[in-house]
Amino acid sequence: MRIVKYPHPTLRYKSKPLLRVDSELKKMIHQMLDLMYANEGIGLAANQVDLPYRVIVMNIKSDQNAKEEEHAFINPVIVQRKGRMEEKEEGCLSLPEISAPVKRPQKIVLNAYNLAGQEVTWELEGLHARVVQHECDHLDGILFIDRLSPANLLAVKQALHDMEAAFSGERQRGIIPDDQLIAARLSELETART
Ligand SMILES: [Zn+2]
Repeated sequence: MRIVKYPHPTLRYKSKPLLRVDSELKKMIHQMLDLMYANEGIGLAANQVDLPYRVIVMNIKSDQNAKEEEHAFINPVIVQRKGRMEEKEEGCLSLPEISAPVKRPQKIVLNAYNLAGQEVTWELEGLHARVVQHECDHLDGILFIDRLSPANLLAVKQALHDMEAAFSGERQRGIIPDDQLIAARLSELETART
């Protein structure tokens, strides 16, 4: 398992809900958590590790000893967005070196399944609400750069171009498969679990 970087096509994939929580899924989720901690992230979505599943993990302390902050949300659905809009700086492990302010509602109500397969409703605010909104966007193929103001997007444009150039370089060297191969693999993984 590895983190894919912008503009990898899996980051634009809209995933379908999972049908079951089993030991294989739990293993994937633990690998996602390990990767998130290894990269000092506070959230990670399944598309970012090249998986077409609706799963996100979060720990706003980015500390694996802070278990009270460690969450895995399976089939997360934001059922309500409330509170005022708040603009805060965001980054993303799939867009390293870029950060920019993003406006999002300050509070959300989240419905999701946990690792025990139980449905849970969470009321989240502040950074928790922001991370969950950012990660749920990933599951719909949306990146935080899609939510920037024109001026803020302009400010990161060059960095995005550089990432696009690095990506095509990796493709030419055969490190990243072509779009058809990626799509075929995602479709196979999707059929197995959604
Ligand atoms: Zn992200």
